[in-house]
Amino acid sequence: MKVTTVKDFQKRPVADALVVPVANDGEQTTLTLSLGDDAPEFGSISVGDFKGKNAEVATEYAPTDREPRTLLLGLGLLNELTPHDLRLASAALIKTMRKAHLRSANVIVPPLDSEFRSYFLSAFVEGVVLANYEYTVRDKGPKHPLVEQIAFIAHGDDEAVIAEAVTVCEATLFARDLVNGNADDITPEALAYHARQLAKDYAAVKVTVMDEVAIAKEGLGLLHAVSRGADKGARLITIAYTGAPESDYRTVLVGKGVTFDSGGLDLKTAAGMEKMRSDMGGAAAVLGAIRAAAEVGLEVNVTGVIPATENSIGPASYKPGDVYRSYSGKTVEIGNTDAEGRLILADALSYAAKNLKPDVMIDIATLTGAVMIALGDEFAGVMASDHVLSDELMHAGRITNEFLWPLPMPQEYESKIESDRADLKNTGGKGGAAIVAGMFLAEFVDGVPWAHLDIAGVRFREEAKSYLPKGANGFGVRLLYQYLKDFGEDI
Ligand SMILES: [Zn+2]
Repeated sequence: MKVTTVKDFQKRPVADALVVPVANDGEQTTLTLSLGDDAPEFGSISVGDFKGKNAEVATEYAPTDREPRTLLLGLGLLNELTPHDLRLASAALIKTMRKAHLRSANVIVPPLDSEFRSYFLSAFVEGVVLANYEYTVRDKGPKHPLVEQIAFIAHGDDEAVIAEAVTVCEATLFARDLVNGNADDITPEALAYHARQLAKDYAAVKVTVMDEVAIAKEGLGLLHAVSRGADKGARLITIAYTGAPESDYRTVLVGKGVTFDSGGLDLKTAAGMEKMRSDMGGAAAVLGAIRAAAEVGLEVNVTGVIPATENSIGPASYKPGDVYRSYSGKTVEIGNTDAEGRLILADALSYAAKNLKPDVMIDIATLTGAVMIALGDEFAGVMASDHVLSDELMHAGRITNEFLWPLPMPQEYESKIESDRADLKNTGGKGGAAIVAGMFLAEFVDGVPWAHLDIAGVRFREEAKSYLPKGANGFGVRLLYQYLKDFGEDI
């Protein structure tokens, strides 16, 4: 979708519709046209039974010189308006346009006279871009055609805010495509390919990739063990973006990249396996966030580390009950081969802590079914070595509507991952399983300030909802970008 900003209402392009935001001012009978300062007088608009409720859209066939129709876009009560209301409203607009096969619109930006104008405006743009998405397999086109062109009619200062929001959302759509893609296409090497493409596109991005031979030689024994059952070799992808070259401060993002999870020899059920191409949602979020940071030119330094592998079954599969040595030197007894995410993350975290000099490490992973039971599909779990980091991430979650909720790390549970045969065990029973998984990771961060995001419940939707499509929603791209923007620099 081509998105532009037009400062002069009279210079807007020809389009299928003019979109006029309308707020309900609390009185049932009166509506406030939410026009920008530069917009002309519209006079009275016949609204019929349109109430201006949030996400309500009405079509009026009153042609202008540029558009054959006007769409009234309800915002809801103006004095109670939140950024998220704007996200929902603009997503409803796109849904209406797609159903009616409208390909282009000139959208008047609502008056957002507040010190938080950029948050409101970003959210309004996000609803537009994020709702204009449908994953289609190969040559099967979308059910409803996508909108091709949006011109926002806005103030001059808004242009940069709009462009930034579009960039971050496009990176989110990129992450959705990776997660929705066939597991046979989005392989560990394919993730490495996409990382290398980013390095081609942006001079400030550098990529190195370890193949399975290097992974074994370097002693990433847990990543190597998990990958042994697959015919597609594992990769350890390191993608570094340096946007603040004068600074030493660097955030490391570790993304779980299990491109298909069969469970291994502890095989999943058929129903439990069907969506397991999405088990690289963390890796996709890391690539998306770095792409957005590089495209915007965010003045931060961030390195993504992606342990990528399939968890498959083969004659060389790693075995329940056996003990494997991690990169850190700690040995791990395999309680269940389906608890593979924490194994590959453990190696990636200790590799990053030792070699990349991170000031902060954040891992993002579709880690446990237990977090879905605890928090459902609207909240991801967050665990952190200190509450400041956890609060910062939760703050970024509130801004982006990608919510996090803290899980505790009680010492009392440490005994759950004790092993008779090794330093640790990769399972700890059913109780508190999301917490135990995070506490396993804590054993590998080597004193670096660290947070863990468990996105197993939020990465994939069974039903579309507003700007979130069925399937992958790209959770984490906007969240991590917002975190980097607000806290990715040591000040
Ligand atoms: Zn698994």
